[in-house]
Parts: sequence; structure tokens; C-alpha cells
Amino acid sequence: MSQNEILFARAQKTIPAGVNSPVRAFRSVGGAPPFIVRGEGPCLWDADGNQYIDYVGSWGPLIVGHAHPEVLRAVNAKAHDGLSFGAPTEIEIEMAEYLCRRLPSMEMVRLVSSGTEATMSALRLARGYTGRAKIVKFEGCYHGHSDGLLVKAGSGLLTFGQPSSAGVPPSITQDTVVLPYNDLAAITAAFREAPEAIAAVIVEPIAGNMNMAKPKAGFLEGLRALCSQYGAVLIFDEVMTGFRVHRQSAQGRYGITPDLTTLGKVIGGGMPVAAFGGKRAIMECIAPLGPVYQAGTLSGNPVALAAGMATLALTDAPGFYESLAATAQALTKGLQEAAKAAGVAFSATSEGGMFGLYFADRVPETYAEVMACDVGRFNRFFHGMLDEGIYFAPSAFEAGFVSSAHQPGDIEATLAAARKVFAGIR
Ligand SMILES: *Cc1c(COP(=O)(O)O)cnc(C)c1O
Repeated sequence: MSQNEILFARAQKTIPAGVNSPVRAFRSVGGAPPFIVRGEGPCLWDADGNQYIDYVGSWGPLIVGHAHPEVLRAVNAKAHDGLSFGAPTEIEIEMAEYLCRRLPSMEMVRLVSSGTEATMSALRLARGYTGRAKIVKFEGCYHGHSDGLLVKAGSGLLTFGQPSSAGVPPSITQDTVVLPYNDLAAITAAFREAPEAIAAVIVEPIAGNMNMAKPKAGFLEGLRALCSQYGAVLIFDEVMTGFRVHRQSAQGRYGITPDLTTLGKVIGGGMPVAAFGGKRAIMECIAPLGPVYQAGTLSGNPVALAAGMATLALTDAPGFYESLAATAQALTKGLQEAAKAAGVAFSATSEGGMFGLYFADRVPETYAEVMACDVGRFNRFFHGMLDEGIYFAPSAFEAGFVSSAHQPGDIEATLAAARKVFAGIR
């Protein structure tokens, strides 16, 4: 057995499926996951000494690559002053001021430790602010694993969402409405049916948890107009897209001002940092200023924030996002050419440093179109690439990420591997 296999067998004895988050178990692609020993720049090394070019980046946070020296320096320096105080520290103000400066929609912000906490808290806040109960989410969007969000579409417009996980009672999901993404008619009808019941609409402005699906022209604008008209809170869940797709995140890319925004991933640079924030009048409803309770022992942890601030500072470099976007485009364009030459039905797209790969003739725009992609062929592509030292996300329904550490030579090596692999999965 390889070291990876030995570790995976050992892990499964004390950790369910051997992993601490399900997708890491490789269930959808099959086989055993490599156990990672070390990362540097765009690369990873596993327990057997295999080297990979990494397009997962810890699922998005590592926008400057692994173990960036400036991020490590900031973390080391902060750690020497103590790990946690449960009392205010200046770096929390620095992060809050930075986020408010960089995102025009952000007037106040509260820091938490995971994207799940950020979305859960933002929804509670929206309900407390409006005094309404129902929330709307879109099929295929993921907003963390809190009970009320583990829901799949019901049969009618305002029928109860059905729990999508065991352990979630229907009473908890009955106020969550699930509608099709990129379908303005459906959400318009939902508001007409219950004009004063919907507290919030939460959306991934670019959906990155059903592979990658961009908003159709007018979709986000339509959500903005409907929420303003009916007095509902528009929440952009930018945990993935925040500072990833554009200097001002998806809201800057599309020029829409949400009422609340949730952030995570990049703002922690690989450490547990997330945030929610937005309009002052809404944010002032949070305890102890207002009646909406929210708290966290490790919220605003100074060492984690040091990693986040150092990472964000690096993204402030002139041309950072232009260069990141060019890297993602070189990858997606090259993969499309390689697939075409091999006669494999394939398409790809990107926005900033985030990309989607699809085993389908054209880039999907809806959940149904994403689900129709050829998963079997993706799985063969995934394993072929992994064998060539290229680490893509182990699922056909995850977005991919490049970092500023990915150099043209890394892209060329990836494309050389892809030419070989596409020819073998024709
Ligand atoms: C990753 C993600 C979350 C959940 O964040 P965690 O830190 O894993 O809890 C929420 N929303 C979106 C859009 C995400 O991509």
C-alpha cells in the first residue's frame, strides 16, 4: 500500500469516511484521496512524494498560492503576541475598515469564523430586521450547512422546502423557499404570491457550488429591484466570489449593491475567517446594539486575521486581478482547444481567478444544464489529470481556482497533460 492508502485506511478508523468535510473523500470520483504534506506557491506534495499543480487552493482561499512568505511572516509575528484573547484587538478594526473601503456596499461588518456562520447570521439578521420569516434561496447555490439551508426544492412556488439532509426536521425548512437560479419569473411570482412574507433573498452572484454558473443578464438586477420593491433584504453570498472574481467581488463586477454581503475563503487567506456586513441600519440590529443575537469565542481571531490581511494586501497590487484573470483564461482557452483537438465535448468559462469546466457542448446557465454534464467523462478526466500531477477538484460540480502563484509554465504543463488525457477519454 502507498503512504496515501495507509493514511486513508487509518483515518477511516476514527474519522467518518476519513475526512472532515465530505467532498474530500473522493466519493464522487472514486479512489483514495492523496494526503497532503506540504504546499508552496501553486504546488502540493502528498504523503508519497507526488507533486501536483493545485487548482483547488483549499477551495478558494489561497488566491496568492500556498505558504506565501508575506502571509507566513504576518502569521508568525501575530502568533508571538498570543493566539486569542476574546477581547477587542486593533487588527479587527483594520479588517473591518479594509472591507468597508473595498466593498462600497459595506458600511458595517461583523467577523466570524466560517462561511456557514456568516450566512446563518446574515439570515437571522435579515429576519430580525424585517420581522418576516421566509427566506428564498436558489437551487444549486450552497450557503453552508446550517439547518434551514439544507433544503431542496418543493413542488410549488411557496410550498415548503424539503430537508436535503437527515436530522433536519421539516419544521425548520418550512420557511425556506427554493427557486430555480437565473429564473426571474419564478422569484417575481413568489414575491407576488406573498408580498410581505419574504425576509431575504440569498444568492451566490456567480454560482460556484454547482460547478460554475454565471448570472444571466438582468437576473441580479431583477433581484435587486424586487427586494427593494417588496422590502426584502438582498444578501449576496460572496463567500466564494469575494475578492476572487474581481477587485470589488461579484457586486463590483456586475455593479449591483446588495443590502448584506457574506464573505469567507479569500478574506482568511487559508485561516478560519469569514464576515457578514452591509447597510448600517440593518447591521445595527445585532446584539448588543440590537435584538438579533450573534456571538463567537474565536470571532475576529488575530492570528487568522493576520493571514487574511496579508493576503488581501497582496491583492491590492496594481494589475493583480488582470493577471489572475489572464491566468484563468489561458487555462480555460487551452483546455477547450485540447478537448476540441481530441474530439471531446467540453466547454469552460472563468471570471477573475475562478473557473468552471464542463463536459458539455456549451457552458451551462441553469442547475438542470449543469446536472446534464457528463459526470463519467469528468471522473476519467479527473483521474487522468491527477495521475499526471494536476490536482482539480474531485467532483464534476465544483468550481476551480487559480492563484497569483500560477505561472505560464504551470498552465503549459497542465495543458500538455490535458492533451494526453483528453485523447485517452475520447
Ligand atoms: C464555502 C461556501 C460557504 C460555506 O463556507 P464554510 O467556511 O465552508 O462554512 C458558504 N457559501 C458559499 C457561497 C461558499 O462557497
